[in-house]
Amino acid sequence: MNCNVVRDLIPLYIDGCCSEESAIIVKEHIEGCDACKELLEDMGTSANVVSVSKAPAKFNKLNDWKASVLQSVLLFFSFGLITIGVALEAKTESGLMNGFWAINLVIPATGFMLSMVNWYFVRVYKNRKRFSSFSLITTLAITLCAYIWSGFHYEMDLLAVFSECNFVEAFDAMQDVLFHNWPGIVLTVVFCILSKTLSNQYAKMLGKE
Ligand SMILES: [Zn+2]
Repeated sequence: MNCNVVRDLIPLYIDGCCSEESAIIVKEHIEGCDACKELLEDMGTSANVVSVSKAPAKFNKLNDWKASVLQSVLLFFSFGLITIGVALEAKTESGLMNGFWAINLVIPATGFMLSMVNWYFVRVYKNRKRFSSFSLITTLAITLCAYIWSGFHYEMDLLAVFSECNFVEAFDAMQDVLFHNWPGIVLTVVFCILSKTLSNQYAKMLGKE
């Protein structure tokens, strides 16, 4: 390779703006050419600098964009469910059905949406598996906390159910709670699975191992 061509490439090589092929040409040339090596060193860098090619940067940007789209869609989706749940709840008469939509739709969707705060910390995690597992735990923990709150708020008398000495009555009361709230339990399980799989996908898009 001609020294003049290599000298033209050296500034690009230093800035990491040349392609991988050009970087290899420069590297190979300076190994056998002291004049060019000296020039490269004079320009403020050692001959060991490895150039970064542009192609992976573009690929990363596209995937970053995809990850942001996924995150935004999920935020809108869960917030939409919360809005629908609150609207339906407002229309429900107080009494037996009070809290039905809050428990069966608003709480599971809120648990999922709030757990997405964890997604902002994806870079803190050692690997994807840990990140997605912690996302699942966060979703479950927030949802369970909200259910405990709802137990007191809607005076479901859950404590009475568990402290009941009469097992038949306790079983009946438990059945009653499950009968009215099974959609919420199903939805919580669905959101936990989604939290694990989608957070894993999100981290994958960001190039997390
Ligand atoms: Zn040369």
